[in-house]
Amino acid sequence: QLQALIDGLCDLSMHDGLTGLMNATFFQALLVSELDRSARTGRNCGLMLLDLDRFKLINDNHGHLTGDLVLRAVAIQLKKSLRHMDTAARIGGEEFAVFLPECNPEGAVRAAMRIHAGINPLLVSTGNLTLRITASAGLAWTDPGRAAEPRDLLARADAELYRAKRSGRERLLYPELLPTVTSATERASLVLPRLEEESYEQ
Ligand code: GH3
Ligand code: MG
Ligand code: MG
Repeated sequence: QLQALIDGLCDLSMHDGLTGLMNATFFQALLVSELDRSARTGRNCGLMLLDLDRFKLINDNHGHLTGDLVLRAVAIQLKKSLRHMDTAARIGGEEFAVFLPECNPEGAVRAAMRIHAGINPLLVSTGNLTLRITASAGLAWTDPGRAAEPRDLLARADAELYRAKRSGRERLLYPELLPTVTSATERASLVLPRLEEESYEQ
C-alpha cells in the first residue's frame, strides 16, 4: 500500500495532471541531465518549443472545459508523433516542449517537422463543434562538440518560436542549416569533386 502511495506521488510530481505529459519542473531536470550526457557522448540533440495559436479565443468562445479538451487532444497527438527516445512536456498553459536526443541538426529538423505537421492543423471535435487548432514552433539544437547550457538552448528555441509568432503563426522555424562535415570519408567526398573541377578548368 505504501509502495503504491509512493508510486502515485512520484507520478504526480513528474507529470502534468491535465495531459499526462511530463511537467515543467521535471522537463527542466531532464534537460540538465540530457545535455550533460550529450556533452559526454558528443551526440547532438534538439529542443522544440510549441505554443498553440490564439488559444485564448478557444476559451473565450467555447469555455475553459473545451480549452482543456483541446490541450488533451494536442498531448495525445504529440505523443503519437514522437520517436521512442523523445520526451514531450507541457511547460506552460498552452506551451509544450519536445526534447529530441541523439540527432544531428538535419535529424532534429526532420523530427520537428513531423511533430509540427501532426498538430498543424489538428481538428478537435466535441458535440457538433469542430475546432481547427494550429501551433507555432521553434527549434534549436546543440552545436557539435560543444557543451550546451539548458538556459541557452531554451532561449534559442524560444527566439525561433517568437519569430514564428511574429511572422504569421502556424509555422515551425529554426536556425539556418549549415553544411556540416562529420567524417573523414564525407570530407574526402566533398573535396574530391572540387579538385576534379579545378583540374578540368585548367
Ligand atoms: P498566441 O497565438 O499569441 O500564442 O495567442 P494565445 O491566445 O494562444 O496566447 P495567450 O498567451 O494570450 O493566451 C493563452 C491562453 O491559454 C490564456 C489562458 O487562459 C489559456 N490557458 C492557460 N492554461 C490553460 C489551461 O490549463 N486550460 C485552459 N482551458 N486554458 C488555459
Ligand atoms: Mg503561450
Ligand atoms: Mg498561444
